[in-house]
Amino acid sequence: MPRNRKGIVAPVPPRFRFPHGVPPPNFALSIPRPTHSAMNPILMYHYVAHSPVPGTHPPLTVPPHEFDEQLAALSAHGSVSVLSDEYSRRLQAGDHGNTVWITFDDGRIDNLDVALPRLVAAGHRATFFVIAEKSLGNEPGFVPLSGLREMLAAGMEIGSHTMTHPRLARLPLEQARREIADSRARLEDALQVPVRAFCHPFGNWNAATVDLVREAGYELATSTIRDNRNARADRWTLRRVMIQPGRTGWRFRYALSPAYHLLHAFKNRRRWTG
Ligand SMILES: [Zn+2]
Repeated sequence: MPRNRKGIVAPVPPRFRFPHGVPPPNFALSIPRPTHSAMNPILMYHYVAHSPVPGTHPPLTVPPHEFDEQLAALSAHGSVSVLSDEYSRRLQAGDHGNTVWITFDDGRIDNLDVALPRLVAAGHRATFFVIAEKSLGNEPGFVPLSGLREMLAAGMEIGSHTMTHPRLARLPLEQARREIADSRARLEDALQVPVRAFCHPFGNWNAATVDLVREAGYELATSTIRDNRNARADRWTLRRVMIQPGRTGWRFRYALSPAYHLLHAFKNRRRWTG
């Protein structure tokens, strides 16, 4: 024990040691990597059609053959598609297994005519976030009430994407409350099933609108933040993988890989906390 001249024990500065005495061979390059089992990707689709849906942003339309390919890739990988109740349970438990949550925004008619039969044929399930006023009002171009019932009967889930698809954070709070709470009540009333999941239109939300979503009785909510991994803290602004045309083969595998997570975790840290 080293002592100084007065006989006091001198503190020995701690020395960093690798657990096994020598650094691992790739020490300089090693980066923390999540294991595959930690992935709980949510896929975000809008429209599945042969050509871009008129009046919409073209990159939001995925060709049907690419959608088929993606569903087949999920099956080949052994991925089981879950809906919001199972996703919520696994999120809480931190046990994701090999699951994926497939989601569709806006409830356009192609969701019923093109996506639904393909999902059923491939043995997958999905959640459709519909705009209550458009679907329940049977507005042309959107899945009508009878179509929503068809989706439910096929094992799919209906979530709420508000009454009219506004930018919630820009609305007076009382109006935002109506968009969030009334859409849930109206859909539950029309469909006679619980509406558990909410999707923020345009990915536009703030702390106050997230509180309204929680108060309205939803269990979770999805955002447009990109990532293929979610933690418990993300429950009200769940991150998703946006599926655009051309995301097949290695591009689709990449979207479900730890590399995609690392890239977007880095980007999101700058974007959402900077
Ligand atoms: Zn939308």
